[in-house]
Amino acid sequence: MLFGSHQRTPIRSADKEVASWTYTTCGYCSTGCAIEVGKNAQGQVVASRGVGGADVNRGKLCLKGMFEHELFEAPGRGSEPLLRRHRGEAFAPVTWDAALDHMAAEIRRIQGQYGRDAFAVVSTGQILTEEFYTLGKLTRGLIGTNNYDGNTTLCMASAVSGYKRSFGADGPPGCYEDFEHTHCLIAWGSNLPEQHPIIYWRLKEALEKRKFPLIVVDPRVTMFAQFADLHLPIRPGTDVVLQNALMHVILAEGLEDAAYIAANTTGIEALRAEVANWDPTTAAAVCGIDEDRIRTVARLYAKAPAAMHIWTMGINQSTHGSDGVVGMNNLALLTGNVGKPGGTALSITGQCNAMGTREWSSCSGLPGYRALENPEHRAEVGQFWNVDPEFFPKRRGLFQTDIFPAIETGQIKGLWLVATNPITSMPNTARIRKSLEQLEFLVVQDAYADMESNQYAHLYLPAAVWAEKEGTFTNTERRVNLVRQVTRPRAACKADLDIFNELAKRFDPEGRVRFPERPAEVFEEMKQLARGRPCDLSGMDHELIERQRGIQWPFTREQRARGEIPPAGGVRLYTAPRSFHHPEGRARLIPLPFVDNNEQPDAQYPFWLNSGRLVEHFHTRTRTGKVGNNNKYSPIPFVEINPDAAAELGIRHQEYVRCVSRRGDAVAMAMLTQRVPRDMVFIPFHFFDCVNRLTLGLLDPHSRQPAFKQAAVRLERVADQRAAARLCIEARQY
Ligand code: SF4
Repeated sequence: MLFGSHQRTPIRSADKEVASWTYTTCGYCSTGCAIEVGKNAQGQVVASRGVGGADVNRGKLCLKGMFEHELFEAPGRGSEPLLRRHRGEAFAPVTWDAALDHMAAEIRRIQGQYGRDAFAVVSTGQILTEEFYTLGKLTRGLIGTNNYDGNTTLCMASAVSGYKRSFGADGPPGCYEDFEHTHCLIAWGSNLPEQHPIIYWRLKEALEKRKFPLIVVDPRVTMFAQFADLHLPIRPGTDVVLQNALMHVILAEGLEDAAYIAANTTGIEALRAEVANWDPTTAAAVCGIDEDRIRTVARLYAKAPAAMHIWTMGINQSTHGSDGVVGMNNLALLTGNVGKPGGTALSITGQCNAMGTREWSSCSGLPGYRALENPEHRAEVGQFWNVDPEFFPKRRGLFQTDIFPAIETGQIKGLWLVATNPITSMPNTARIRKSLEQLEFLVVQDAYADMESNQYAHLYLPAAVWAEKEGTFTNTERRVNLVRQVTRPRAACKADLDIFNELAKRFDPEGRVRFPERPAEVFEEMKQLARGRPCDLSGMDHELIERQRGIQWPFTREQRARGEIPPAGGVRLYTAPRSFHHPEGRARLIPLPFVDNNEQPDAQYPFWLNSGRLVEHFHTRTRTGKVGNNNKYSPIPFVEINPDAAAELGIRHQEYVRCVSRRGDAVAMAMLTQRVPRDMVFIPFHFFDCVNRLTLGLLDPHSRQPAFKQAAVRLERVADQRAAARLCIEARQY
């Protein structure tokens, strides 16, 4: 047979016959890719493509973005509000007015009977910033509960907490352009090619132009670790020990930037005293990284003209999450690697608008990074909203991870879930299930009626999804980008903004507090509160954001008045001396004593359990589980097992295995691979009734973020393989 080029049949994509494209921003991860969605002449949404002129993704999209247009009509979407008086009864359709009247009445009943904070709100990192701001105004200004948080506590709380402790304020100081300037990159607990493929592509492009050392710290041999120059397979939960040892070497060998430390920081002596305890030999015995390798990494990092850290959940989802972030900040401050091109500690955020909720949702305080604890902030926002500042709580209420235990104890009786699915995403599913069953009133507001937490709801509100709405997202590098409405909300679904505004009318019929109806008007209102704040976006508007394909904050009204065009490359924070948010503008070097407080593998449960994201899926698969190509590539849960461990247990590749922890059990297909060491298994976190039946989720004391990645399990081969296959496959088909 001949294979001459003239005989090849090139692969052709089917012509989608796109008649018009609409600019928008991807609604999955925090990379913030600019995306255009195409419609045919009949107005049907038929295609997605990356935007060539956008600084973030430069025309590229990952697998999720490429098929994002398919989610509008995916199975499981809600179409009308549903109500039932008692759990266990069938839902009945109701009008929006009846649904929202009932919701307002139930909130009032619970607050009247048990106190204002007995009704809790848990939101998301998925809705638009204008919607976050409006939900915050409704919750803080009218409903008045202090038990209000976002599901971002499960992913980003440690980064927020660590930035605040070190620098005095939240906000990732670096940007993607730093890849083009750095001379050394350490990635902590991040599998970038799978989790954030387009950020990885930016890094890879920078590495192709100019080689620099890439060091990956991860207990698993992830795809990223396979591309690294150095892989440090750390013992789970001991990153702080490695960080202390790196600082020990830097200070012992005089590699620190003494001038930068003297001019910009406080706390060097206390830090020096703590890291003196962590010589590489001592640290190696705890964290499992060879002492010479620790010295090599410390020297590579400290001697680089500019060096940076990136990290994701391997750091954040730990009982030492906040400390791990402070540890990276300490290393950056010791070596003068803050606020300069290529020198930064850049948290890679999780959800598309995790930053929007941090900045504007009022979950942890008041909008624009204001604090409930600050009387001036309460007065300023109270006056602006026309709300008595005394109505605001004087300190932050419960975090999401404390709200569920408070349901167990009877402190909280009602809950409103906005675009979040705790029965799949929270650790220790059995406990969450009991909590949800205990509620007197649960409202689920979500684009998908089939999301698992809705099984426990009394009221379901069908929300519009992603580009059925209009507004902004903020990405990992503080870039605000625009989601244009591509298509109208499906059936009777409503934009989250409209739902919040309609509910506000039930709590404020005389209209004392203003709730603008259009997203662009909400943005104009936010700009007034943004002036002078760290996240100042007063120079932006929706049109300028679209024209620039996204603008990083800060971008002020004054900059715009001067005719400054937002730079395409990267805006960094803390570029000027003493520009941190602690007194005198100095950052804090914070000592990090280490106490090993995780569940550990033992004779009964001999494996570490690790969990993480797959490239095909997003969070609890509410969306990607229904998009054909995403789900086809990764349709069922699996458990990665080291072949040596599997041989000892008599488990063969692709057999079904029962994983058992002290909390419960889960069945998954065995994938034998050297990616995990002999004493570890890995299970993706996306699947309902799977890994979180096993996780313990001890909380970080600063951020209250759960340690999803440090638990102990044992493995058993399932005797009835057919039944296990049914459980794994059929239960997950849409
Ligand atoms: Fe969307 Fe993230 Fe993929 Fe970009 S990398 S297309 S933002 S999911």
